[in-house]
Amino acid sequence: MVRARVASFATPGGPEVIDWQDAEIGAPGAGEVLVRQTAIGLNYIDTYHRSGLYPLPLPSGLGTEAAGVVEAVGDGVSGFSVGDRVAYFSAKPGAYATHRLVGTYTLVKLPDSIDDRTAAASLLKGLTTEFLVERCAKVQAGETVLVHAAAGGVGLLLVQWLKAIGARVIGTTSSPVKAELAKANGCDEVILYTREEVAPRVRELTSGAGVRVVIDGVGRDTFASSIDSLSPRGLMISYGNASGPVTAFELGLLARKGSLFVTRPTLFDYCRTRAEVEAASARLFKMLASGKVKVRIDQSYALEDAAAAHRDLEARATTGSTILLP
Ligand code: NDP
Repeated sequence: MVRARVASFATPGGPEVIDWQDAEIGAPGAGEVLVRQTAIGLNYIDTYHRSGLYPLPLPSGLGTEAAGVVEAVGDGVSGFSVGDRVAYFSAKPGAYATHRLVGTYTLVKLPDSIDDRTAAASLLKGLTTEFLVERCAKVQAGETVLVHAAAGGVGLLLVQWLKAIGARVIGTTSSPVKAELAKANGCDEVILYTREEVAPRVRELTSGAGVRVVIDGVGRDTFASSIDSLSPRGLMISYGNASGPVTAFELGLLARKGSLFVTRPTLFDYCRTRAEVEAASARLFKMLASGKVKVRIDQSYALEDAAAAHRDLEARATTGSTILLP
C-alpha cells in the first residue's frame, strides 16, 4: 500500500475544477504494475477531458501519460520488473498523480539515452507524430506538408520528423516569436495564421499547386483553410480541436475541392495491438537517438499546479512540451 497524491474532478469546467486528494494505492492486480511517477506529460487532450468536450464518467482522474519507475509487479506480467524505468500513455485519464497502477499494453521500457522528463514530454506526442507522418499520411521525401500550430508540443515534433525524412514543411503559428521557434526547428516557411490568410499563402509557396497533406490539430478555426490548401486528391488529417471541434461537414465539399480525402485519426487506433505499440515506440526512440528530432521542455510546473499549466496551454502561452513534476 502506498500513499499517493492524486488529481480528480467531479464536474466538467475550467481549470479550477481540478482537485487534489490523498489516496491509498494497493498492490497491482493481474496484468498491472505500480509506477512511482517522476514526470507527467501535459497534453491538450487533458483539457478536453476536464472541460467535458470528451465526456468521461465522473468523478474522473486526469492525465494521459507519465514516466517513472516500476515499484511492484502484478501476477501474469512479463517483460517488466521492479526498478525498470518506464513510460506509458493511457486512454483512461489518471496520470496526474504521484503513483499509479497501469496495465502493460501501453507501457514501454525507457532506453538509458532517454531521461524520464524527456519521456514524459514526448511519448504520447512523439507516437502521435510517428503515426501521423509514417502510417496515416505516409509522407515521402520531397513532398510539402502544411502543419498547423507548428511551435506546439506535437507541432515541433512534426516539423522535425518531417524534415528528417526529407519533406518540405509549411507551418502556422499565432505569433512571430513562435514562428522563429518553428523555423529554428526546421520549418521552411511559417504563416502567421492569426494575421494572414493561409490558403492563398500556401498556393503562393507551392506555385499554385497546394499541398498533398495538411496535418491539423487546431480544428474549427483552420478546417476551411486547410481544405483550401490541398492539391487534388490531397489528404486532410484533422487530429485535434485546440480551437474547438469541427462539427458540420458537407461531403460534397470534397468533390468540389478536388476529390479530397479527410480523416480524423486517434493514436489509439494506430496502436491497437502490443506489437503496434512496440514498433511505434521503437521508431520514436530511434528518431530521438538519431538527434534529428529533439524534445523541447519549455514549461515545467509542480504537479499540484496542473491548473496553471492548463490555463497557459489554453491561452496559447506555451511552446514545445510541458511537464508536471511530483
Ligand atoms: P499544443 O502544444 O500544440 O497546444 C495547442 C496549440 O494550438 C496552441 O499553442 C496554439 O498555437 C494552437 N491553437 C490554435 N487555436 C487555438 C485556440 N483557440 N486555443 C488554444 N490553442 C490554439 O498542444 P499538444 O501538442 O498537446 O496537442 C496538439 C494537438 O494535437 C491538439 O489538438 C491535440 O488534441 C492533438 N492530439 C491528437 C492526438 C490524436 O490521437 N488524435 C494525440 C495527441 C494530440 P498557436 O499559438 O501557434 O496558434
